[in-house]
Amino acid sequence: MTRIDDLPVRDALRGQASYGAPELDVPIRLNVNENPYPLPASLVRAMTERVGQVAGGLNRYPDRNALELRAGLARHITRSTGHLVDAQRVWPANGSNEVIQQLFQAFGGPGRRALGFDPSYTMHALIARNSGTTWISCIRDESFGIDLRSAGEALAEQRPHLVLITSPNNPTGAAVPARTVLELYDAAQKARPCMVVVDEAYGEFSDQPSLVPLVEERPHLVVTRTMSKAFGAAGLRVGYLVADPAVVDAVQLVRLPYHLSSITQALAMVALEHSDTLLAYVEQLREERRRVVSELTAIGYHVDESDAPFVQFGPFDDTRQAWQAMLDHGVLIRDNGVPGRLRASTGTPAENDAFLQAARAVWKETTTGANTPL
Ligand code: PMP
Repeated sequence: MTRIDDLPVRDALRGQASYGAPELDVPIRLNVNENPYPLPASLVRAMTERVGQVAGGLNRYPDRNALELRAGLARHITRSTGHLVDAQRVWPANGSNEVIQQLFQAFGGPGRRALGFDPSYTMHALIARNSGTTWISCIRDESFGIDLRSAGEALAEQRPHLVLITSPNNPTGAAVPARTVLELYDAAQKARPCMVVVDEAYGEFSDQPSLVPLVEERPHLVVTRTMSKAFGAAGLRVGYLVADPAVVDAVQLVRLPYHLSSITQALAMVALEHSDTLLAYVEQLREERRRVVSELTAIGYHVDESDAPFVQFGPFDDTRQAWQAMLDHGVLIRDNGVPGRLRASTGTPAENDAFLQAARAVWKETTTGANTPL
């Protein structure tokens, strides 16, 4: 059988495995930060109807510039941030992953460097690799915050072309304070003109306001967001950026023509029309996260600060073993490779109850049994 490495693949891909959490058939799946609530029936009906309207026109390519969707997203961002954003500043793609890939294609590439603060969303480093951009990992402090002094030194020394800041951070959970982002932005510009991308995939779940208003005065600042999490529409594949209109022009140089299908654009519009219903789940998930944090803490776990719809907790002497023990209790969570820590998405109240029960059992097994103590 021919293997990848038998093919003339790029050297950077030799010996690599594809990204993705294990897809296991388990009763409780809290491993990929999905919104646990299915779309409401009224929205499903509206979507079905809209697909019917669009389907007849599928002989034509979609709107290459996604003008209607960009206007709809701009209205949504304006309403939710209280800051007027027009469609020229908004650019959507198939998930914020594709938006980030387009940013790397436009501003990274061979001979260029991107810097991120790890542990963080590992796709950033993979997209860097795929675009031939050198990835520089700046390590967060013990409580997973960004230490401005060491970050400033790294920026001055490495002079990156792109900086990625995930806020709230995945997998660790906390938002990055706005003033930290601004200091990083200024420090990065001192070294060279540099694009600073704030990945706000989980922004709606945080008390901290979106940094969208800051892009107005800062042509090198980009905020990325997604409909996968707060809107509960991960299957739709729509993410977007908000930035200076010149940034939108730049990503249009690298985007594939007709990258967003007519169906995707139409269904995203329907989801936006129902945004009040969909975003109501955000408050429920925030409340559930608070409950999960307090119950995990009561069991004895340490839970890292979270502004996101997931929690990172531990400590575990052997994360692999603890992950497997949770799985043995029917609950799939995520080992993101952070030493001593695992991450669990916030689910429905019933899913969270099952998770907490498993966490309690694992705590007992590992502290009183023959297994490695916590
Ligand atoms: N950014 C972060 C921090 C994420 O966790 C994710 C998804 N897990 C994404 C971006 C990408 O999400 P999507 O492509 O679904 O918008």
